Amino acid sequence: MQVTGLLKLSSYLVSVIDPQTILTNLVSSLVEILPSVQAGVLWLETNGRLRPKTVLGLPLDAATHEALHHCQLRSGEGLAGLALQHAEPQLKSATRGYQQTAAAINPVNDPLFHQLSAQLPSRLTAAALPLRVGSETIGVLELINLGHNSSDSAWQPLDQTAIPVLQAFANLAASAIKNAQLYAAAQQSERRLKAFDAVVTAISTATDLDDMVRSVLDVVVGLIPDASGALLLLDPTHDHLALAAQHQLPPDGATYLAQLPVADSPCAEVVHYGQPMQRPLLEDRGEGPLITGGLVEAAYFPLLAGGTVAGVLALYGPPGLTMHTDKDLLMPICNQVGFAIANVLLYADSSSERRKLNTVVTSIAEGVLLCDAAGRLTLANDAALALLRLDSLPFEQPLAAMPDFYRMRDMEGRPLSLEDLPFTRALAGEVFQDYRLILHGSSGDETVMSFSGAPAHAGDGMIEGAVVVFRDVTASQKVERAKDEFLAVAAHELRSPLAAVRSYADLLLRREQQRGEADPRDLHGLTILTQQVSHMLRMVDNLLDVSRIDAGQLDLQLQRVNLVHLANQVIDQQRPAAGQHPLILECNEDELVATCDMLRIRQVLTNLISNAIKYSPPESPIILHLCHRDADSPEAEGFSGPVAVLSVTNEGAGIAPEQQARLFQRYYRVRSSRTEGLGLGLYLSRQFVQMHGGRIWVESNEDIGSTFAFVLPL
Ligand code: ADP
Repeated sequence: MQVTGLLKLSSYLVSVIDPQTILTNLVSSLVEILPSVQAGVLWLETNGRLRPKTVLGLPLDAATHEALHHCQLRSGEGLAGLALQHAEPQLKSATRGYQQTAAAINPVNDPLFHQLSAQLPSRLTAAALPLRVGSETIGVLELINLGHNSSDSAWQPLDQTAIPVLQAFANLAASAIKNAQLYAAAQQSERRLKAFDAVVTAISTATDLDDMVRSVLDVVVGLIPDASGALLLLDPTHDHLALAAQHQLPPDGATYLAQLPVADSPCAEVVHYGQPMQRPLLEDRGEGPLITGGLVEAAYFPLLAGGTVAGVLALYGPPGLTMHTDKDLLMPICNQVGFAIANVLLYADSSSERRKLNTVVTSIAEGVLLCDAAGRLTLANDAALALLRLDSLPFEQPLAAMPDFYRMRDMEGRPLSLEDLPFTRALAGEVFQDYRLILHGSSGDETVMSFSGAPAHAGDGMIEGAVVVFRDVTASQKVERAKDEFLAVAAHELRSPLAAVRSYADLLLRREQQRGEADPRDLHGLTILTQQVSHMLRMVDNLLDVSRIDAGQLDLQLQRVNLVHLANQVIDQQRPAAGQHPLILECNEDELVATCDMLRIRQVLTNLISNAIKYSPPESPIILHLCHRDADSPEAEGFSGPVAVLSVTNEGAGIAPEQQARLFQRYYRVRSSRTEGLGLGLYLSRQFVQMHGGRIWVESNEDIGSTFAFVLPL
């Protein structure tokens, strides 16, 4: 009869899939079926401890009942602990109270066992049956016979004979519990996966941020019974939380959450520490409007994008809400949402930047071209297309095809090599301005374009492309040519009368100086006259030199020149103009012979020294340095043999880096130059040095001074 009952019960258990139903009904069903059992405790094992899941039939007061519910037994502790330890059924009869059934008891549990002994009959029998699944014991079923009670006619003792059958049943029950638990876990995983999938779909199909947060919130709130919720986004300064979406919040609650300073918000900790928080709603955390709306508990989850918080998911609901909020599910969802929000914001940011850049680029009157590291065009504005007379840009065109495609020539009309292309120069790291080239249109017309370019650096400093800006300077080039021609004619016409004036002024000055009682005012006037006329003559000579260079008529008169001797001469000549500047020649050689045009090199040195005088404070020293360098020295790089290096150093305000590159251009003067000049000295110096196969450059440090240096091959 009992065996039949047990068989029926076990086949029922196997058919139940909810573990909770099994746990609740197991002990009560046994008490119904077995006359030898009046009470029982179902213990389940977690982390090596037994905890009661069901307590039934024990005549205990409420406090002891509650204490028993919260008690934990270690392996070996009490009769149930012993069954767990040995994985074997235990049977124990007591005559002096329940405590007698227990083996060792942890002192923490002593008071409870005292209470149990005091409240349960002193004569009782307990059987502890391990719930075994294979080699694992998932808990213990403790069945208790409370002793004979005269009113209970069906009472039977609990003894050893029943144990084998009971243990066989316990094993079946254990399998049923385990299976139901596994099934429940699988169901939960499936629910999680489905929820995750729904969130991912909501994210990927959203049309914008608003749409996304709304759909995500609907999915998440739908997972939790009776929940309402809100999605709060953190502003870029991380100061405020703004309500981005809400689901069934009481109206006052929604108003309250609309815009909150983080510090005053009920979830400030969640924003600061990036950890979720679950708790009852609190009046003093400002959650009054939610409480009056009938909500009781809150769960706040950070929306994390990597290490940063992008917002907060707030869930509200009745008591028990926090029990239903599955952290293991919601945290990964919130991370996913956090990343999605960060991406959307980033995308919005970069598109607005792109729009701005586009507006700037298209509205520029100059042509703007951008290329990638391989020199392929990636962007061109309308002005560029118009200037190049193209309908669309050949985006896939390799760099090497450009010179031919645009029929590019340098200003002397020579075909352009690949290295001299504006893009190639910028990709090599060069920054340049007003680089002029001739382009031939399809109709054969010739345009002069002025190019400026610079490399585009990636975040790691590598060159990832180049920008080139250009404009048509054909008209101004023509004007410049006309101006040069006019200046050449004017200079030519001015030279002879000026030379005559200078000869007479010199003569008059010498006479006045030789006169016994010279009038100091006349002497002063004549000195200024000769100086000014010489200055004008130098300017006129410079203009004539420029026009000779343009006409290709400037030839060098080469001869062997001792540069040391020449340097001494120039210094002596410049001394009167130097005023209080000490002029110092630094040279370790007695002789440094170069084959050069003495007049032109003298002109270069004179120009550099007179610039140094003009552009440095009075009394500061000016040093002319002269040395010989072997072929393997850095200064001789690019030359086939030894070189002479000549440099002029002065103290002074120095020259800004962006101006240094332009100093050697024709007519270029730094705007702040107060002294008069035409801006031709350095241009001519460079022309003369280059005609000698040499190189000239400037090194300047603002606030320290400048050095103009040139090398001549020896
Ligand atoms: P100019 O002296 O007639 O202006 P240059 O071609 O000799 O023409 O010089 C061009 C510009 O370079 C000058 O206007 C001046 O601003 C700058 N410059 C030349 N030499 C120096 C120097 N030693 N120190 C500072 N600036 C200089």
